[in-house]
Amino acid sequence: MSEVGERIAEIRYRIERARPGRQCQLMAVTKGQGGERIDQAIAAGVHLFGENRVQEAGAKWPRGTGAVKLHMIGHLQKNKINSAIPLFIAIDSIDSEGLAEALNARLTRRLSVMLQVNVGQEPSKFGVSSDAVRPFLAQAQKWSWLKFDGILAVLPQARDSSAAEGKRIRRLMQETSELWRSCQIDQWPWAPLPELSMGMSGDFEWAVEAGATIVRIGQGIFGPRG
Ligand SMILES: *Cc1c(COP(=O)(O)O)cnc(C)c1O
Repeated sequence: MSEVGERIAEIRYRIERARPGRQCQLMAVTKGQGGERIDQAIAAGVHLFGENRVQEAGAKWPRGTGAVKLHMIGHLQKNKINSAIPLFIAIDSIDSEGLAEALNARLTRRLSVMLQVNVGQEPSKFGVSSDAVRPFLAQAQKWSWLKFDGILAVLPQARDSSAAEGKRIRRLMQETSELWRSCQIDQWPWAPLPELSMGMSGDFEWAVEAGATIVRIGQGIFGPRG
């Protein structure tokens, strides 16, 4: 087995151990990674992939990527919308009303998207605040081509490995999961929200415990980015 394949097996084991019997998909984040490692991930049975730049994704991934599902998970600039539409099966990084509006205006078919939430309200990160999630989704039927299939949460990184810091991050994850569930209860036809995409290499087990249905792992699978 390849080294990438071994790391994937280990991560799958840790996901299962964090929440036995619950489905959580592994998304391999391939930014900064080359073709050979990506092929190894596909050989290990991963079919969900995330890229965070349109240009890089376009160069690496051929159109119509077969059984592989490629999602956009980075900030989408409005001038890249036209290139992004044929490339990705879903855009998980809707981080403003302006982007939702501009994307909807360019579409001629329904597209699966997620609303990105900047849980810690960090100025360096994109996404709406937790308070804005419900009002945003409640009026999202006006973007008739967008189907909100989930929430993508970006969280602060733990500042250190102390128990208090771990507790703080886990609480934020728990609150985000509760927010996601409370929006599901509304059963908006345009926002069924089956997915909660939360957790990265450093904190995915906490996210799985909190109820994430997708974890996004880059360096944990591929090693440091080149
Ligand atoms: C890079 C990236 C990840 C993966 O981060 P790792 O620490 O490499 O696991 C997850 N989500 C987003 C949005 C990213 O940009």
